[in-house]
Amino acid sequence: MDTMTPEETAAAKSDAYDKANESRARDELRLRQQIEQLREALREANATIAALNEHTDKYEDAMLKERRLAEERIKDKAGEIERLSGLLWGGRCVYCGEVVGKDRQNQDLSDDVLREHVRACPKHPFRPTVVGSRPSIGLVASS
Ligand SMILES: [Zn+2]
Repeated sequence: MDTMTPEETAAAKSDAYDKANESRARDELRLRQQIEQLREALREANATIAALNEHTDKYEDAMLKERRLAEERIKDKAGEIERLSGLLWGGRCVYCGEVVGKDRQNQDLSDDVLREHVRACPKHPFRPTVVGSRPSIGLVASS
């Protein structure tokens, strides 16, 4: 190693110090720029998330609405199937509208059940006279 004068040594130290400072300043600047870029990316990501959340809320609302409508339609159809099944297998009382005998799954048996029901139907207009005998024609005319 070459020997240096104290002045040369001091100058070399000062030069090294300046270079280290410049290096640190460059590093700091680079880090500040990177931090700013990351902050900008974070802002963009947050904006994207907010937009997606808003979109998701709208989508969920629409989906829930569709689901409710579909469930209502299914309920309506199930009710219609139940009603038609009752008409297929049971007998509908013309006085009160009740469908009876559908659980028998047999039309002949259902007819028997319907006859039994009509005899006891609370809305049958001639209920007291129906049991055991036909109503008289005179009771039918009213207006
Ligand atoms: Zn009835």
